[in-house]
Amino acid sequence: MAECLFCAIVAGEIPATTVLETDRILAFRDINPQAPTHVLVIPKEHYPTVAALAAADAELLGEMITAAHRVAADEGVSETGYRVVFNTGPRAGQTVFHVHGHVLGGRLLAWPPG
Ligand code: AMP
Ligand code: ZN
Repeated sequence: MAECLFCAIVAGEIPATTVLETDRILAFRDINPQAPTHVLVIPKEHYPTVAALAAADAELLGEMITAAHRVAADEGVSETGYRVVFNTGPRAGQTVFHVHGHVLGGRLLAWPPG
């Protein structure tokens, strides 16, 4: 079993509801959704934070953003509006240290966030 929760999902050791998969990216539904659309987009390769990914492989980060926007379109929220969030570090609420973008939509999203 992989030590990292999202590496375990990539390895198929923990089940997830996949909505999009490419050779380097996986997108699956958040287990505790905060909005009608709440999908997590991750690289299959392990990087702890978006900052670490940006420093190591900016092209892969671009693929993540492209995938996030494709998910929003597939979920039907690209016209009404959606948010792509990278919680980075413990005081921003990051609990899983495998970089992930939250794609949130389908309801009015408050700004600024709490
Ligand atoms: P963050 O707090 O930004 O690190 O986000 C971690 C997210 O992972 C939270 O929104 C959790 O609900 C979600 N999560 C935790 N375990 C699972 C799982 N097994 N499958 C899908 N989402 C999960
Ligand atoms: Zn990982």
